[in-house]
Amino acid sequence: MTDSAQPVLFIGHGNPMNALERNGYSDGWRALGASLPRPRAVLSISAHWYVRTTMVTAMASPRTIHDFGGFPPELFAVQYPAPGSPELAGEVHELLRPAPVGLDESWGLDHGTWSVLVHMFPDADIPVVQLSIDRAQAPSFHYELGRALAPLSDSGVLILGSGNVVHNLETYAWGGHRAGAYDWALRFDEKVRLLLDAGDHDPLVNYEQMGPDARLAAPTPDHYLPLLYAIGAGHGRSVSYPVQGIEGGSISMLSVRLD
Ligand code: ZN
Repeated sequence: MTDSAQPVLFIGHGNPMNALERNGYSDGWRALGASLPRPRAVLSISAHWYVRTTMVTAMASPRTIHDFGGFPPELFAVQYPAPGSPELAGEVHELLRPAPVGLDESWGLDHGTWSVLVHMFPDADIPVVQLSIDRAQAPSFHYELGRALAPLSDSGVLILGSGNVVHNLETYAWGGHRAGAYDWALRFDEKVRLLLDAGDHDPLVNYEQMGPDARLAAPTPDHYLPLLYAIGAGHGRSVSYPVQGIEGGSISMLSVRLD
């Protein structure tokens, strides 16, 4: 265990099958994991724990949740037996005061978390805690929670937002049988990068006012909001993009690293 400062990450997780596949994205996550100082724990904010309150997993042994349908048995067989960290859950609970954060004993690790961590930390020996996304709150609430979490990053916790900057399943070509990305997907992905490069977070927080491209890129908030936790926690740091690309026309695989 180490308390050395960690980067903050946002990972575009995309198709759950990335958990099993070795491709440019999963190889990028492996390289990313190998490049980090060993964290004392991971705090994951996943698009797939999108509920009506803020909670943090507080159990000692979180289960692996297979929160999807229509995938092959091999994907349902994946287990990611990382320990939890009731201690970190308590730290999160204290740091986010006065926001009420419940201590959860029933969730676990959903595929937004484990489909990435099976590559980043394949030994599953680093404790993992998840923080839920309160769907009733405005985007600025999520950004501010991210800012409040920043001290954890300085004390050895890897804060990891897992979603997708562009996530439109209505237009997504399952199996990737589409020649290229939609123009609006490329434009929004690029716009996000330009704003991150400039450290201009206000438009990113107020993304709903960014016009028709934003409405197509984030038709629902769940996969976009983890980005706001990451950039809130990594506010003021330098930005790089360890993984990028648009999958199936309308899923951005962009990953953001804040050092
Ligand atoms: Zn997802």
